Formats: sequence, C-alpha cells, structure tokens
Amino acid sequence: MVNTPSSIHSQLECILPTVRKPGRYTGGELNQVVKDWGAIETRVALVFPDIYDLGMSNLGLAILYEIINQRPDALAERVFSPWTDMEAALRQAEIPLYSLETMHPVNEFDILGISLPYETLYTNTLNLLDLAGIPLFTSQRDESHPLIIAGGHATYNPEPMHTFIDAFVIGEGEEVINDIVDTYRVWKAAGKARGELLRALTRIEGVYVPSFYETDYRADGTLAAIRTIEESATLPVEKRIVPKLPPPPTNLVVPFIDTVHNRIPIEIMRGCTRGCRFCHAGMVTRPVRERSVKEIVDAIEEGVANTGFEEIGLLSLSSSDYTHILDLVNAVKERFTGRHLSISLPSLRIESVSVDLMDAIMDERRSGFTLAPEAATEKMRQIINKPVSTQQVLDTAREVYSRGWPTLKLYFMIGHPSETLEDVQAIIDLCKAVLKEGRKVIGKRAKLHAGVSTFVPKPHTPFQWVPCDTVESITAKQNLLKDQLRGRGLKLTWTPPEETMVEAWLSRGDRRMAEVIYQAWQRGVKFDAWKEHMNYQAWLEAFSAVGLDPAFYTHRERDVTEKLPWDHISTTVRKSFMVQDLNRSHAGETLEDCRDNCYACGVLPTFADLRRENPGEAWGCPDVSPRGKNKELIQVAVPTQDA
Ligand code: SF4
Repeated sequence: MVNTPSSIHSQLECILPTVRKPGRYTGGELNQVVKDWGAIETRVALVFPDIYDLGMSNLGLAILYEIINQRPDALAERVFSPWTDMEAALRQAEIPLYSLETMHPVNEFDILGISLPYETLYTNTLNLLDLAGIPLFTSQRDESHPLIIAGGHATYNPEPMHTFIDAFVIGEGEEVINDIVDTYRVWKAAGKARGELLRALTRIEGVYVPSFYETDYRADGTLAAIRTIEESATLPVEKRIVPKLPPPPTNLVVPFIDTVHNRIPIEIMRGCTRGCRFCHAGMVTRPVRERSVKEIVDAIEEGVANTGFEEIGLLSLSSSDYTHILDLVNAVKERFTGRHLSISLPSLRIESVSVDLMDAIMDERRSGFTLAPEAATEKMRQIINKPVSTQQVLDTAREVYSRGWPTLKLYFMIGHPSETLEDVQAIIDLCKAVLKEGRKVIGKRAKLHAGVSTFVPKPHTPFQWVPCDTVESITAKQNLLKDQLRGRGLKLTWTPPEETMVEAWLSRGDRRMAEVIYQAWQRGVKFDAWKEHMNYQAWLEAFSAVGLDPAFYTHRERDVTEKLPWDHISTTVRKSFMVQDLNRSHAGETLEDCRDNCYACGVLPTFADLRRENPGEAWGCPDVSPRGKNKELIQVAVPTQDA
C-alpha cells in the first residue's frame, strides 16, 4: 500500500485516541512552517531521535528549522521518535514514520538531518530509520534514498555510528547546513550517482564522510591507523564554527502539550573559558562568542510577541560568565517588569554569581536555584580544574537562601580521577553544611537537593585518557550517599551505574562499536536515556555477540601516545594542550579563566582569520594582529603552538 499524507492523516484519526499524549503526533502548532511540497526543490526532515516533549526543547533543532525555512528553495519539517505505544500502533497499521508539518513519509525527504546531542540516542536513531523504511547501513542506500546526515555534540566522536550515517557535521551547523543543501541541490539537478554526492560533501569544511576512511587495529585491540581512501577526504576533519552568532530563533513553534521546557531559549553566549577538565561541551565549543545585550533584549521582545511564552531561558554553558550579565538582567528587568515574565539563568558558576546578580534575577516563582560545585573537596576541585573554595560555596548558598529561594540544588559528580570514598563522604558533609546555612537563614523551610551524576571520560577533553569508574565502585559510592544523604530537607538523585556504562561505551567507542549498537538494537534496545527502558543485559549480550570486551572501552587507562578513535576529528584544541593539562591535573595545578590568561589551546591559531575579521569583545579569545600590519598594532599576539 502506498502511504500518502492524506492516507496517513486518515489512519491517524483512528490511532491517536488510543495513544498517550496524541498532541505529540499531530503537528499544526502555532508558528509551524508549512510550505508547498511540490514547489520546493530540497526537502529536509529535521529528526530528533527521542520523543516530541524533549525534542521540542532542543535549541539546535529550532535554529536549523528557522534557517532552512528562510530559504525559498528548501523546506524543513520535524520528526521525533514515537513513544512505544505509538510505535506499536504505527507498525501494526504499517504506517511509516512521517513528518509533523505535512505528514509526508520520512523516506520521501531529500535529506534527513539527525540531531545527536548525546550518545544514548544512537539506538533510537536506528529505530527511526527502520520505522521510516530506510536501509540502516549507508552501504545499502542508493540514489532513491534520502541523504542521512547527523550533527550535535555526540558526533565529535562519530565512529560508533559510522556505518549508519552518510555524513557527519563536525561543529556548528548554522552555515554548514546551507552548504549541504546547496551541494545536494546541484547534485540532484545533475542526476549523478550517490557516490558523487558524498564526494562533493567532503569538500565542505566541517563535513566528515566516514565511508571514505579506513581503520586498522593492533593485536591488542587498539587503533593502529586511520587513513583516507578518497582524495578529497581530509585528515583531520576540522570542526566548523560561525564567527558571529546569528540572530537567535524567535519564531518558535509553540507546542499544544507540555514539553520539558516551555520557554523561549536565548543563547547569550557560546563556548566557555573556564577549562573544567571533565567538560566535553566546554572544550568542543571554544572559542567563546557573545551576543550583545541589545540583541538579546530585542530577541526576548520578539520571541514573546511571536509565541506568548512567559518564561525566558538565557542559555549558555556558564551564564554568569557572560561579560555583561548584570547589565543584561537589569535591562531585561527594566523592559519587562510587570509583564509576568520569568527569566531563568540555568547555568551559574559559584565564583561569578554576585549578590547583585541574585537580586536582579527575575524569578518570581523562586522554585529552586542551581549551582554546580562538581566536587566537594578543594583537592578534588583542583584535579578537575574547578577552583572554588568550600567557603565560597557556603557563602553563596547563604545568600541564595536569604534571597527567597527555599531550595538549593547542588550538582556533583562522582568517579573523578583518583577519587576515594573520603571525597564522596565530603559531598555528604558539604550538603549538610549548606543545608545548615539555609536553616540559619530561613529555618526548616530550607531544602537541599543533591544531584550526583557519574563522570564519563569524554573524547576531546584532558581526561580522555583516564579510566571510567567500575560499576562496583560506583555502586559503593552511591550506597554511601543514599545511606547518609537523607532526612528532612535533603533530597538525592543519582545516575544508575548501568546508564553511565552505556554512555561511556558509546562515547569512547571505535568503529567496531557500530556492530554492538546494531546487535543491541536488534535485541530491542531503544530509549537508552530513559531509566525504565535501560536494558543493560541486552548491551552485554551485544558485546558478547560481536566478541568485544566492554571493559576495553571503559576501564582501561589509555597511554597518551595511543591513537584514539576520534583523533582524526579536530575540535582545534591541540592534543598537546590536553596532555599538558592532564599533567597539571596530576600535579594539582589549576588554570585560571582563559579570558584573563590565554593558554594557547590551539583554537585561536586555527581561526585566526575569522578572529581578525571579527575583532573586539564579542570573542573571549584575544584579538589578533591585522594581517601585514606592524607589530605595534597587535593588541595581544596570537599565541604560538608551543606557548
Ligand atoms: S585560544 Fe586562548 S583564550 Fe581562546 S579558548 Fe584557547 S586558551 Fe582560551
């Protein structure tokens, strides 16, 4: 049976009343963009491989939706994973996965752009391709199939998904998506073979086509070599950035149902200069680029007018480090007081949250205030390069409680390198000390919520060589926390160790992990990010079926000379910088904010031309000299590779 938008629509009328939250599957929301399918050359399905409720809060998807739909020759429509009840209904009725805007089957689009912000979406990605009737493996696709591209933070190690994705976007998508659409359009018009399209994509900066690379392994299982088998494919593939953040999307689609964040997300700054050694996002999103206060305030005004949302999220990896944060919150207050808006600053650093900032934050609900010390001893905070003192934590907590927030949420991680049970005990002691401060100020109304996740040594960070904690050790640490972090006013949440293992395998894997992912999916694994769906046993069986040892990927200390599966992908932060920083960690040395002291991580020499064309304070890196001008004109010299 041929599925058309109208046949899908009429079948859904019977199905939707039988599933939970049918509003996930209807489309038709305010601000969705519906274009004339037949009149548009290039049709892109933007796919978020988890449910609508999560995907609709994904900023990357909103950005690409607006950029593509601004083109007269292209359209973008949204696709999310159906929840299990809807998937069963679709499979039973033999309805293929469809887009929300026009209900076209996904396999009729030209390009599928899959968002992979985290690794636990990999099995869902296979499931989506299967539901769409698209061959899972890139080698099985021909000119009749859509081009499958993927981007997002997880794709800085694309290797575990290399057999399923035709091309990865490494880095920021705002410019590269237009290059890909242009390349696709030219290829389609020329009627050439699919291989020609892939070849043309390798010429776009920031695009990695894995089928043009081959790997060899040593007898001990480590990577021996990675080489290109196509002339136009480069080694390494460098990430793409935008030199200036484009205007934030303000014409956001407004869901009919509650989603994770019902707010206007405005990215105030991209990148982070703090250099926490565990932080993947902080390393891969360098350099810091900021928006102006005026641009942000105008975007809020536009967003509110277009959507009616009452909450604004001023987003970045570390919002209190935004250079003009106080001016910004004051400007927002001035413009929007009395309009019933709530402004949230979700990522605040302890050392940069000032009393003035707390006073200025417009959060009428005062439901909770979040800080992330990450570790509870000063020794451990030196190891991870988060040099804040215990006294600072206590002082900040007291100020938070005294300004009317009854609940303070503190984020910690366990499993940091060289961590002992004493360091975990210190988390308990610190939480209790913080709560005590709260009680001094607001009595028994004070509450403390400790969110304790487990560290995964991520690719492209100074900790990429260190081993991940074992399930046994994590369990012992969590038992200590569960045992002692309870009582009136205390709440503890933690990540199950099995979830941490899956994340670690997938983020640290090489090309051989692709077969493990496939085997796991065949055993019914999906929705790995959802506790109730975690199927650890199936993952272990998948490893066993492929003949790989999971511990090889997680619990082995890697030598800094070992070739890593992601070494051919460059975030532009030099490997030698990360080795130096790992050594500093061993020595308990910290780095200051690199906006105050550039450490020549490698980003600036790579993007020197972009920096030169965009001088001034919008970037967190020092200015570079105008090309060909006298040395006197150099405000701050570009650091050398060896500095
Ligand atoms: S080049 Fe310097 S200022 Fe820029 S991100 Fe790297 S260390 Fe920080």
